[in-house]
Amino acid sequence: MQHWKLKNICPMLKTIQLTIQRASYGLNLSDAIIKKLIKPEHIHEFLIPVKLDNGEEKYFKGIRVQHNSKLGPYKGGIRFHKDVSKEQVSALAVLMSIKCAVSGIPFGGAKGGVIIDPKELSEKELERLSRGYVSKLALFIGPHIDIPAPDVNTSSKIIDWMVDEYIKIKKKQIGKKKLNNKELMNMKAVFTGKSIKNGGSLGRTEATGRGGVIVLKQLISKLGNKLNINIKSPTIAVQGFGNVGYNFAEIAGNERFNIISVSDSKGGIIKNDKPNFGDIKNKSLDIPLVMECKSEKGHLAGCYCVGGVCDVREGRVISNTDLLELSVDILAPCALGNVINRENMKNIKAKVIIEMANGPITDEAYSYLTKKGVIIVPDILANSGGVIVSYLEWFQNINNKKMTERQVNKKLKDILENAFSAVYNQSVKRHISLKDAAFEIGINRLLKD
Ligand code: NAD
Repeated sequence: MQHWKLKNICPMLKTIQLTIQRASYGLNLSDAIIKKLIKPEHIHEFLIPVKLDNGEEKYFKGIRVQHNSKLGPYKGGIRFHKDVSKEQVSALAVLMSIKCAVSGIPFGGAKGGVIIDPKELSEKELERLSRGYVSKLALFIGPHIDIPAPDVNTSSKIIDWMVDEYIKIKKKQIGKKKLNNKELMNMKAVFTGKSIKNGGSLGRTEATGRGGVIVLKQLISKLGNKLNINIKSPTIAVQGFGNVGYNFAEIAGNERFNIISVSDSKGGIIKNDKPNFGDIKNKSLDIPLVMECKSEKGHLAGCYCVGGVCDVREGRVISNTDLLELSVDILAPCALGNVINRENMKNIKAKVIIEMANGPITDEAYSYLTKKGVIIVPDILANSGGVIVSYLEWFQNINNKKMTERQVNKKLKDILENAFSAVYNQSVKRHISLKDAAFEIGINRLLKD
């Protein structure tokens, strides 16, 4: 395989370009087609003026990359983070196009972001920034054009501010003071991940984590003992304790999985192997209680909660680096990109890695670990539960309907199980990894006339 000369680009974009290149050569696509596939349709870059509480005005850089709209309106989250860059957002936008194609939902791919550490802003400043982002983009988004959603550091509260701003702008444009209920719901379809009272879908908050557990169960049911893990009660370490990490850990912990370690940006905790009393070895950390404890204390340290009790004798603190290198059956990176890379790839001991974050493994580490026999469940499958339920939220808004949580979860399970089967069958048929198989399926669907 001939490698393109990849300029000094950000690791995530490089990883995605190399993965697409590998899958595309497998499909006998020409370099010209591959380059076209990677190129975004539109890139919006703008400065957002924000009035700070002290009266000063500060400018923040906002980005929206609309990658591909072949299969439907652009779809993808908005990230508020200091590491946001045009290249990073472009990489994530490509992933969204392929992810939507793999799950078979009628959306294209996009991603957005603002270069900011949101912890530096007050709530009022954050609201002004969120509204400012939308006022710069209002012309280029819409329920049938581009549908943003939450991502890192952007909650349903932020999305609700954004929806409100969008509706204000649109009402002015169409010269209408009041919209009827149906018109209002249709307009709210411009964003997903809204709060329930504002037209959000039941089950959306948990969807990405729930989807990861569905995919993991499918993997175990297909590969069983071949995975070489304790399939009755596999041990899992979870990096990241936000929307994805928390919900993944909670739902997995309620099933037969044994969550032994979790972390957030400040570090993590690990349950003791040899408890001082009782038999907690095969019991998962009590994730809701860990969260309750973390909310009270402000950090995870000391929150060793199992079976309804938190006891400091039951665990120890652990760094984020050490968490990734634990000897567990399954590793679930649920925070940021490129956390498994050249520096630590040789120390990874997990037998299965489920990519719940977007792009958590660099291409070099992916090749190394795959050769070593580690099964990697790709992000475009593992974390697609979020965009699938976003589609269901959009569908409910557009049709002015409400689905029950049970209906949402059932639909999520059906869509994900189909997607998993397609990816698994492709990987068996073509003797390729799950990641390459998922990319082949997504790329084929994006290129089909
Ligand atoms: P979030 O902001 O809710 O949570 C992020 C978590 O990561 C926090 O607990 C934070 O403390 C932790 N974190 C930050 N830096 C860290 C570090 N260096 N080490 C360890 N932990 C760190 O974000 P989220 O919505 O949970 O998204 C997490 C990942 O999942 C991102 O890669 C995102 O793109 C991806 N994702 C999210 C969704 C979704 O529905 N929210 C869907 C698909 C993919």
